[in-house]
Amino acid sequence: MEAAHATPAWVLLAYLISGVCFILALRGLSSPESSRRGNRAGMIGMLIAVVTTIVVHAPRISGTAPDEYLHNLNVDWAVAGQILAAVMVGGAIGLVTARKIQMTAMPQLVAAFHSLVGMAAVLVGAAAFLNPSAFGIVDSAGAILGPSRIEMILGVAIGAITFSGSVIAFLKLNGNMSGKPILLPARHWINLAIVVAIAFFSFGFWHSQSPMDFWLVMALAFAIGFLLIVPIGGADMPVVISMLNSYSGWAAAAMGFTLHNSAMIITGALVGSSGAILSYIMCRAMNRSFISVIAGGFGGDSAAAGGGEVIDRPYKRGSAEDAAFLMSQADQVIIVPGYGMAVSQAQHALREMADLLKEQGVRVKYAIHPVAGRMPGHMNVLLAEANVPYDEVFELEDINSEFAQTDVAFVIGANDVTNPAAKTDKSSPIYGMPVLDVEKARTVLFVKRSMGGVGYAGVDNELFYRDNTMMLLADAKKMVEEIVKNIG
Ligand code: NDP
Repeated sequence: MEAAHATPAWVLLAYLISGVCFILALRGLSSPESSRRGNRAGMIGMLIAVVTTIVVHAPRISGTAPDEYLHNLNVDWAVAGQILAAVMVGGAIGLVTARKIQMTAMPQLVAAFHSLVGMAAVLVGAAAFLNPSAFGIVDSAGAILGPSRIEMILGVAIGAITFSGSVIAFLKLNGNMSGKPILLPARHWINLAIVVAIAFFSFGFWHSQSPMDFWLVMALAFAIGFLLIVPIGGADMPVVISMLNSYSGWAAAAMGFTLHNSAMIITGALVGSSGAILSYIMCRAMNRSFISVIAGGFGGDSAAAGGGEVIDRPYKRGSAEDAAFLMSQADQVIIVPGYGMAVSQAQHALREMADLLKEQGVRVKYAIHPVAGRMPGHMNVLLAEANVPYDEVFELEDINSEFAQTDVAFVIGANDVTNPAAKTDKSSPIYGMPVLDVEKARTVLFVKRSMGGVGYAGVDNELFYRDNTMMLLADAKKMVEEIVKNIG
């Protein structure tokens, strides 16, 4: 591998172009209207970066190097064939997964992909440690350069935390582990001790290049990733996902230095900083402190005990016919979509219902909670897919005051984001999270499949049993289709 100063100008230019493409991609993704363009820019940037990296680092027939103008690459095709085969297998897996994945499983997929980025950083770090001369990071005495030791140990530590943290996030989001916080006794002290130990052994590695310190940092970082995410439940999970996203970026950036790859440094820094900004914005939206989320298990101490038991209480059950009647009589209906709408893919039927209501002179708006569903922007994406006009879609802070003047709040597959326990019950795992004030509407219609089913945080919702609530118990899509028949 060539040292940084030997990098030809065209390579630097190609990496710069791909960096600009990634910036354009982030810009495009900031609004649903420009998101396709943003995605395209990202794909082009990644293609340029991958092709450039393969050409630059293609294995050469021993003792040769490519000339600056690419007239003669001197490629060792036996080894290059293996690399291309690996790229094709990875690319094919990515393509098939992306085509087959359900929208509802997207958050798990993102967590799984983050874990791969983390593991890649760990493996690159380990490879650089075991064979530093191949990476051009040794001094004349054969010792690893001081700055490279720092980059390497940082990349390995962040990569290992990202890997084990993302695996736990995947298991929680995929339902293999409960979404409720799992709280270990004295966890804060254990975590603190591990962080101090990681810092201590990292310093040891930088100081003496000791293999023991290197492997200890890696093992402890795997452990802390696991311990940090296990106690996080309910409302904090969205912040964790974007935090892991940020970590994966920083791990990639650190490895970009080790590999002398400026595209990786640019991309890693973009992912790292945008993930950190998103985490901060989400913390603010959720009324959480960043530190308490990172420390793990915030608000969860009594949650595990309180939790998901569903009490047998009287409630009002309605039919599609009742719902159709109530909504067509209304002046204004606010639709509150949640995870259940995504599960049943009810967004198209929902838009049809809204169109019919509008034809009857009803004002229809959509209220989006910042963490509705299972990933940031989940509901916006689904509503955009169903061509819901953007000017009917409102964020929590812009619409919350309107419920009091609204005839019907139509809550479809949302639970936690409407739960008033977040405002009143200090023992609830979602306490402190801002929620949509649906109960202030004259009538609240709740679409869900059964009274037994709870939301992600695993807690019952007192609103189901209120006098102004009517439960519409069915699959969301089927219920909306029935309502459409009854309005039409
Ligand atoms: P919830 O998970 O609180 O509730 C989902 C509701 O949908 C349940 O009441 C469930 O009841 C119902 N439901 C499920 N399937 C169907 C179906 N096919 N038809 C009708 N109803 C259905 O969702 P919310 O959107 O209100 O809240 C999101 C939660 O997820 C928050 O706690 C948030 O912190 C968390 N989270 C959010 C992330 C994000 O980035 N947005 C990431 C990770 C977690 P039933 O089973 O009875 O049908």
